[in-house]
Amino acid sequence: MYVSRLFTHSLSFLRTVVHNEGVNSARSGGSLRNLRLSNSLHVLDLVVSQGPMHRAEMARRLGISRTTITTITRELMERGVLVELSERVEGGDEVDGRAGDQLAFSPDAGWIAGMSQVLDRICVRITDLMGNEVASAEAAIGAKDDWQLRAEAAVYLLDRALKEGGGDRDDLLGVGIGLPGQINPVDGIVHGALADQPWHGINARQEMNRRLGVPVFIDNNVRLEAIAEAKWGAGQGIRDLMYVSMSSGIAAGFLFGGELYRGSGGGAGELGHTSIDVNGPACRCGNHGCLVLFAGTPAILNRLAATLGPDATMDDVLAANAAGDRSVQNVLSEAGSVVGRLLASMCNLLNPQRIVVGGQTSLAGAVVLDPLRESINRYALTPSAALEVVVSDLGGGPEAGAAGGAAMALSMLTTSPEMFSRLVDRPAAGSLGV
Ligand SMILES: [Zn+2]
Repeated sequence: MYVSRLFTHSLSFLRTVVHNEGVNSARSGGSLRNLRLSNSLHVLDLVVSQGPMHRAEMARRLGISRTTITTITRELMERGVLVELSERVEGGDEVDGRAGDQLAFSPDAGWIAGMSQVLDRICVRITDLMGNEVASAEAAIGAKDDWQLRAEAAVYLLDRALKEGGGDRDDLLGVGIGLPGQINPVDGIVHGALADQPWHGINARQEMNRRLGVPVFIDNNVRLEAIAEAKWGAGQGIRDLMYVSMSSGIAAGFLFGGELYRGSGGGAGELGHTSIDVNGPACRCGNHGCLVLFAGTPAILNRLAATLGPDATMDDVLAANAAGDRSVQNVLSEAGSVVGRLLASMCNLLNPQRIVVGGQTSLAGAVVLDPLRESINRYALTPSAALEVVVSDLGGGPEAGAAGGAAMALSMLTTSPEMFSRLVDRPAAGSLGV
């Protein structure tokens, strides 16, 4: 097997810069060496955010010469990071235009994992760098299981999925993890979660990093669902998006200008504990009349206990709704209506282009969405004609959260020195049959 001097030189160049100076200092430019790395990072950023792309388009978007793009992409292809996609024209003939083919991440360039957990379930999703699913796994956990047990279950599930995909942790470049609570992405600590929840006060990023030995990124589970919906679901192509999860909790994720808005401490989007009635019932958060007490699934089940029985679940509620049970439909409609009233205020403040509604309650469909939309139309001041309210494509919940975790980790590929090192240090020479 022949590995060119150019390739060896290019590899040591990337390693030296990343290890000694870091990705971000390379971006700030300076020496010629940094400029080359900076251009490489910009090329990779484009493929992460826009998908497969022609060299000419890269040159146009980045404002650098075709010659430079050709040099950079050749090195990245030799490294096994990028591959050319063979394009087919109508009629099925393969185009032999090597200079014109689109470039994408190689399926062998490494994997990304996302995982998300709620009180009773953990989901894991492993993808390649183009977002194609490699493997996924899920497991039920006890609502009262402590953090240690949850972390062990998450690691076990991830390793199982990696094995199913034919790989192991060495193939992982990074992991994005979603947990309920207000999570500061800077320190990785789960702040603000209700004090009786198992992840309260945990430095989840540090703990999971220690257990997994790969770069770990942490965010709120619903914020990750919003990212997944924006990248792969009903929020694609929308610059100002509001994602609302209606489930046992009620929370939101805001993407402004295509970027997730986290707030100063990771707390932006906690709709459920907004008081809509200061004289209302006491909430476990210490407030009174929180939205979740009127529209969360425990409130819905409580109101339907006389109709469906005290042990009914949301699956029973959804089945009764599908069967046309009017009393069930009335309770679901009221939940949609009350959430819509608060969203009308949010529309006045933030003026989103589209609201995507996910979570278990949204699975009831029009019976929830129609009154929610009517409330917004009635109470919002902002021009509502352009506002779209749609049900999520991905359904919400930990499956969507795991997809969002993978998307979040992928978005860190060229800004995290640890992830970038894993990308360029991968022993990909085996696939370099030059
Ligand atoms: Zn509350």
